[in-house]
Amino acid sequence: MDNKQTVLVTGASGFIAKHCIIKLLNEGYKVRGSVRSADKVDKVRNALADHCDVSNLSFVELDLMSDIGWAEAVDGCSFVQHVASPFPSSEPDNEDDLIVPAREGALRAMKFAAAAGVKRVVLTSSMAAIAYGDQTREAGPFTEKDWTNTNSDIGAYIKSKAIAERAAWDFMETDTAGDMQLSVINPGGVLGPLVDNTWSSSGEIVRKLLRREMPACPRIAFAMIDVRDVADAHFEAMIRPEAAGERFLLATDSAWMVDVSKALKKNGYNTPTGNLPNFMVRLIAIFDKTIRLVSRDLGKKTPISNEKLRKVLQIEPRDLEEMSVSMADSMVKYKAL
Ligand code: NDP
Repeated sequence: MDNKQTVLVTGASGFIAKHCIIKLLNEGYKVRGSVRSADKVDKVRNALADHCDVSNLSFVELDLMSDIGWAEAVDGCSFVQHVASPFPSSEPDNEDDLIVPAREGALRAMKFAAAAGVKRVVLTSSMAAIAYGDQTREAGPFTEKDWTNTNSDIGAYIKSKAIAERAAWDFMETDTAGDMQLSVINPGGVLGPLVDNTWSSSGEIVRKLLRREMPACPRIAFAMIDVRDVADAHFEAMIRPEAAGERFLLATDSAWMVDVSKALKKNGYNTPTGNLPNFMVRLIAIFDKTIRLVSRDLGKKTPISNEKLRKVLQIEPRDLEEMSVSMADSMVKYKAL
């Protein structure tokens, strides 16, 4: 008899979801990966086949903005890892281009999962839902108790993640949720190895350094985490009874972009090790949309606590050097520069 439980992982073409799928397949689960367009299936399957046995992997076509296919996609699933959400590397013209699919996609995943009797949904939210905007909060590092203030000037992506996560928790208060459980993963900036030649917006940090797109590093700090730890956290949050109803902040200590660059330099990459004055960054931001996205946080470090990640999920996160260098090595390997 086939005892393998099935997990729907949305956004299978994405950087994080591919690692979540590898983890689940290695742990003996059956995985249904969702893609927005069936054209992507062969590329995703071939990429994953280089890293694990894909005989228990199948695909479905789903869009965050449409009900089509969701009932069939969750049918027979024990768990859902809802990872898909728009993550562009520049600010959209209209914030609803991000907010609407993020919120509707999360609610669609929750609604169809509950109707199909799924035990637990693991939602990929973000540190964006925790640590941004003007907040009245206790001093000390940000924790899972904190919420981003969506009424502040925080940009469309950050807003989309906070609104989508809030909508998911609100859904859990309704009768429609039934016995289904929710766990939420809130990663900081995600680095670590690519599995093919595609990367997500967080890869831009390492990519810009390797390409020497700037003579020196903007004074921008990120709390970062390795993608392999993110995948492990999705898995542990899915199976551990004590993870139900909890959020988990995933990051190591906040580090400056120049720290990433120095780690790369130490490992043989020709990356800049000086800091770019803030006025220069603001100037570059006029022309470079990716820099514009982060320039509002110039000179700011955000302290975070990862105690729950270590204590509840029992994950000791990889360090900055490991996640930076492994990403750079994979970008070279897959010619993703
Ligand atoms: P990617 O851009 O690599 O992945 C995003 C995925 O979402 C893609 O598979 C994309 O599909 C899918 N998607 C976007 N819009 C739609 C839509 N309308 N319908 C169906 N699918 C859609 O980014 P990541 O892997 O980095 O991000 C995955 C998740 O992790 C997101 O929720 C993101 O917000 C979150 N996150 C990421 C962090 C990071 O630093 N990378 C940090 C914190 C959270 P397609 O390939 O078709 O575009």
